[in-house]
Amino acid sequence: MKKDLKLSTLCVKAGWEPKNGEPIAVPVYQSTTFKYDNSEEMAMLFDLKKDGYFYSRLQNPTNDAVAKKIAALEGGVGAVLTSSGQAANFYALFNICEAGDHVVASNEIYGGTFNLFGVTLKKLGIECTFVNPEDSEENIMKAFRPNTKAMFGETISNPGCNVLDIEKFAKIAHSNGVPLIVDNTFATPINCRPFEWGCDIVTHSTTKYMDGHAATIGGVVVDSGNFDWDANAKKFPGLCTPDESYHGLTYTKTFGNMAYTTKLVAQIMRDLGSIQSPHNAFLINLGLESLHLRMAQHCKNAQRIAEFLSNDSRVAWVHYCGLENDRNHELAKKYLPNGSCGVIAFGLKGDRETAIKWMDSLELINIVTHVADCRSCVLHPASHTHRQLSDEQLREAGIAPDLIRLSVGIEDSDDILDDIKQALDKI
Ligand SMILES: *Cc1c(COP(=O)(O)O)cnc(C)c1O
Repeated sequence: MKKDLKLSTLCVKAGWEPKNGEPIAVPVYQSTTFKYDNSEEMAMLFDLKKDGYFYSRLQNPTNDAVAKKIAALEGGVGAVLTSSGQAANFYALFNICEAGDHVVASNEIYGGTFNLFGVTLKKLGIECTFVNPEDSEENIMKAFRPNTKAMFGETISNPGCNVLDIEKFAKIAHSNGVPLIVDNTFATPINCRPFEWGCDIVTHSTTKYMDGHAATIGGVVVDSGNFDWDANAKKFPGLCTPDESYHGLTYTKTFGNMAYTTKLVAQIMRDLGSIQSPHNAFLINLGLESLHLRMAQHCKNAQRIAEFLSNDSRVAWVHYCGLENDRNHELAKKYLPNGSCGVIAFGLKGDRETAIKWMDSLELINIVTHVADCRSCVLHPASHTHRQLSDEQLREAGIAPDLIRLSVGIEDSDDILDDIKQALDKI
């Protein structure tokens, strides 16, 4: 495919290039395995000496086409689809961490990732130190240890809607000899490409805007190919020293800038197996084909709704980086010049009950756990995802007790606004 194609063209066309007489849509290779004429050929595949398909837990042509499209959108060298966003973040780290290691993560991240890093990884012997991303470089540096293997943040945090200073994080990570991993779920590559700001590995929950239709759970890990593992070989023995499970092959020597991606497939996916189903990959690809159009509409609608909310006397506060007086507006101008996403965080004057009354009065906007979908939807973390926490515990987790997460869809913004207004009149 021609180089330097624009993002919109990549959304529609990257990844699958049909040859003469082949289907124009990505075919669903709904097959566990692939047939070979002789055993020698298959043996070569098992030794990673030849490229090809043999078992869909490792690789599948449908998944590869969709992963290739996402890699092209992010400007990476390789990508791997996973069964969920959770699996993507776990694998992105577990590919370079083991028991006894440590990671540094922003405390402004998705609740599921916060639990994964803070609780579950700990059971595997991997410790995480959470830092306040707005803290000074000097203070964040103090979280690093000799055994630190990665740094992690979210471009736009879920549910807080805070914008990450990616360059600052990349500088800190690199001065400590570790890669920066950024979860780019909310911004999508349409609005931010973290590799352009020094990030090394990008993850997504494709469940959100990439799918966009609330049809499939999925995730992806994308590698920029830029991080020099060998320059920090002592930290990354898994990539820079021989892998016993592949006859002593060394990933960086054999695969160059594809080392990280190859290891993730050949070792982590082989052994842990959270693979995307080819049918789900097909559905994600349908979403990707219109991602550029949907993101523009999400941003346009959300901007209008955020402006309305910020001018309404019943609203206590609004956090949307597209608002000129927002505390993240300067960061947004730098990292998200074309728009951020459809998600707005805001609070109503009153208490938890006021938020519930407003939500229960909505007619068009749905109450769901989901976010970043073509349908407008809403969630009150204090009453739903985080309902076990007291107001104080919520604040410690970086979530205001009155925070309402409004995910603005791509319906007509007149209708969304009318629904918000009529529900406000009922509180
Ligand atoms: C939803 C989400 C995840 C988890 O993804 P799943 O597909 O639900 O497993 C991770 N990160 C962010 C930012 C998310 O919004």
